[in-house]
Amino acid sequence: MIRRPPRSTHCISSAASDVYKRQPVSGEVRNVIIIGSGPAGYTAGLYTARAMLEPLMFAGYMSGGQLMLTSDVENFPGYPNGIGGPEMMIHMREQAERFGLEVHDKNVEKVDFSERPFRVWVEGDEHRADAVIICTGAEAIWLGAEGEEAQKGRGISTCATCDGAFFRDEEIIVVGGGDSAMEEATFLTRFASKVTLLHRRDVFRASKVMYERAANHPKIEIQTFRQVKKWLSDEKGLSGAVLEDPRDGSEEEISCTGAFIAIGHKPMTGFLEGEVEMDESGYVLHSEHTMTSVPGVFAAGDVVDTRYRQAITAAGMGCQAAIDAEKWLEDQH
Ligand code: NAP
Repeated sequence: MIRRPPRSTHCISSAASDVYKRQPVSGEVRNVIIIGSGPAGYTAGLYTARAMLEPLMFAGYMSGGQLMLTSDVENFPGYPNGIGGPEMMIHMREQAERFGLEVHDKNVEKVDFSERPFRVWVEGDEHRADAVIICTGAEAIWLGAEGEEAQKGRGISTCATCDGAFFRDEEIIVVGGGDSAMEEATFLTRFASKVTLLHRRDVFRASKVMYERAANHPKIEIQTFRQVKKWLSDEKGLSGAVLEDPRDGSEEEISCTGAFIAIGHKPMTGFLEGEVEMDESGYVLHSEHTMTSVPGVFAAGDVVDTRYRQAITAAGMGCQAAIDAEKWLEDQH
């Protein structure tokens, strides 16, 4: 049975949404639990809430996902002057909550999808639902070099599409030797006066065509056997980096006002081990539309996406997962 509230209680005013602001009752069976926030999660929350499925979201201790680390977002339609990443996440959350999404900023520790209702554990409490939507995203891997934390989301970024335009006519470095690094470096030539691509060895994981495109670009210089040891900054922000040659430990300095780290992403799927099918890197696999290998468990956003990784594509997939979950729940009866 799909549990929907009586229509009269489903009002779209903020005040009325307080009806839904309750502590989750451990053991109660919900229609839908959404795991993870960010554009995919909040959009899934908005759609399932408007479908009157009374969704429950565990948004994570650091709710909002990767956009909480982004400065201005200029490529999400509807914001002609751009918007701050954190601000956009607050808007998305408020919009979904207005329609009744119940959000708790807690992490899911483990799940059991072996039988329905599915079971989800949060801070030791068990929660149950007939459908689950996984939107835990993927985190970009950072270098962890000295001085990095202070410059994250300022001079140092992991998304050229998001932040490249802030570095017009500046000298930028890109770190990595895979397709992402080649793609980011090539993309950044639209803005930067010079892009220096740094790779820790002289063999590249990147496909030949993408390597060639970057290597042959007049604005791109590729330096091999270079690792960032330390980021340098001045009163204006990032000013350069200390580079180390891994072969002999020798050091040199490079100046730059922007840096993009493109050394891969890691999906946040550790808690799903053995529960749904994943690829060798841990990305959740879809079996039909947004449904995973487990009927009734759906996944959306960067947790399944190795290609686009944009806020707008994640939001679109969150919408698809919500519609798929609603249709699937209806088909069960
Ligand atoms: P990737 O292929 O795993 O490459 C990661 C790169 O980062 C490698 O060169 C690696 O160096 C380097 N690296 C890793 N850790 C490092 C560290 N601590 N310090 C310095 N360098 C480090 O990752 P990706 O480039 O993100 O690509 C992931 C997948 O997406 C690939 O299958 C790729 O083909 C695909 N992709 C496709 C496109 C496209 O088709 N348009 C675009 C982007 C990505 P080592 O080689 O020395 O390990």
